[in-house]
Amino acid sequence: MHPLQFDNRFVQELPGDPITTLNSRQVVGALWSKAPPTPVQAPRLLSYSPEVAELLGWTAEDMHSSEAAQILSGNQLLEGMFPVATCYGGHQFGNWAGQLGDGRAISLGESINAKGERWELQLKGAGKTPYSRHADGRAVLRSSVREYLCSEAMYHLGIPTTRALSLVATGDGVLRDMFYDGHPKTEPGAIVCRVAPSFIRFGHFELPAARGDVALLNQLIDFTIERDYPQLIGHTETKRAQWFELICLRTARLMADWMRVGFVHGVMNTDNMSILGLTIDYGPYGWLEDYNPLWTPNTTDAQGLRYSYAQQPYIAHWNLAQLANALATVMPDEPLEAGLRTYALTYNQVFNQALAAKLGLKQLGAEDESWVEQLFELLRTSEVDMTLFFRELAQLDLQQPNLSVISSAFYRPEYVERDRDIWDAWLALYAQRSLQELVNMTERKERMNAVNPRFVLRNYLAQEAIDLAEQGDNSRIDQLLQVLRKPYAEQPEFNQFAQKRPEWARVRAGCSMLSCSS
Ligand code: AMP
Ligand code: MG
Repeated sequence: MHPLQFDNRFVQELPGDPITTLNSRQVVGALWSKAPPTPVQAPRLLSYSPEVAELLGWTAEDMHSSEAAQILSGNQLLEGMFPVATCYGGHQFGNWAGQLGDGRAISLGESINAKGERWELQLKGAGKTPYSRHADGRAVLRSSVREYLCSEAMYHLGIPTTRALSLVATGDGVLRDMFYDGHPKTEPGAIVCRVAPSFIRFGHFELPAARGDVALLNQLIDFTIERDYPQLIGHTETKRAQWFELICLRTARLMADWMRVGFVHGVMNTDNMSILGLTIDYGPYGWLEDYNPLWTPNTTDAQGLRYSYAQQPYIAHWNLAQLANALATVMPDEPLEAGLRTYALTYNQVFNQALAAKLGLKQLGAEDESWVEQLFELLRTSEVDMTLFFRELAQLDLQQPNLSVISSAFYRPEYVERDRDIWDAWLALYAQRSLQELVNMTERKERMNAVNPRFVLRNYLAQEAIDLAEQGDNSRIDQLLQVLRKPYAEQPEFNQFAQKRPEWARVRAGCSMLSCSS
């Protein structure tokens, strides 16, 4: 393996835990604890992302070396790596949960690539840390495949996210009770190596604030601004105000992106919110199939629906308010309130723009509200696949709009007939509105296809790849990775991956319901 250059600022500049054992404990006055990975039996590289390897300066030869599997499973460390778990808290499902921390994520170090970019490497599932509490610090193959594929799919959709370098099978079994119903099973274990400029979460700030550790909180804020927001300059107070504003701005853009493509994170706890506005912690996430604003893939949330699709922009605002509460112990209220206002304004503006683009329009005004609202109501009541619908809408003949262009996106053929009249009326209205803008049909289609993906990691596609991988066949993982590299392109050779959910997947675990057990 080519050596990497490490500059581990988080551990060099922020206080660490003086205790070095892996016993579960409360860690006070420190932001990280030493956490050497626990070796695994027989690590084997199942897949890797060539783009992420390249970011780090690793070649295909490096990645296929036997050393790679050893390093990416945590069995071996490269020179300059210093494995730690970080300390954070968080609000889970609306309640303050106290200390959480990296229970199964181990940061190996912050590498600096040839361009001078900082890319932190983190293993997920590499064994216990002082924050593992009663859990084992491991991850199963199914959840690792999901995190690995979706991180890269999200990146190629143009949506901010942590990246995934590699997927390694550990050769060890991991005991999991998938639906917490008293039926634990041994599953194959795996480790994903995640890569991001920073893994700092809202919860990193909330914990010292909740403990009244003002010195630690100040130290972390200054560190984060310096390392992760180096573009900010000026006096401390100015910088902090601008910093919070930027966090709100980025989070707003992220929410607009998720809503545009129908992504549902599933566990938007404040410990799963990135300070850089990245999508982070892929657990029981999912993609909307038939358009249902109340849908959540997370069975743990089936009752409350707190993290369902339509709630996400509101929850992000709530999470930012929790971050603001934490920061308010060391910052004036005014810039925090301003940041939260920026969030709402930005979200509305960016989402509105995205929606206009999805519909092939330059912009949407107040006069468009009612027909847009009616569209989403129709998508819901007619059970129409969101992704396919917007893609097919680009094909509509605006002179002679016809429901047949989009009817293949309906989940129930009988609803095409049932709702035909109302759809015909809507399409006529929509075509008329579209023709009010001077449109070149080719340009219109290109514009729409640039924001309406043809390929997303549908829940059943991920599950099929997992089923095969559990039988020892990893080819589908690489195939999906390839398709999802160009989600907005037509790629007719991959039609099979642009199909609506098959009937068998409607109720199958892993496709329609997921738990946090991973
Ligand atoms: P999550 O819901 O995945 O964001 O996890 C919430 C908290 O539980 C975090 O502190 C995780 O590190 C921890 N956690 C989740 N799964 C495990 C596991 N298998 N072993 C140790 N800690 C875990
Ligand atoms: Mg988490």
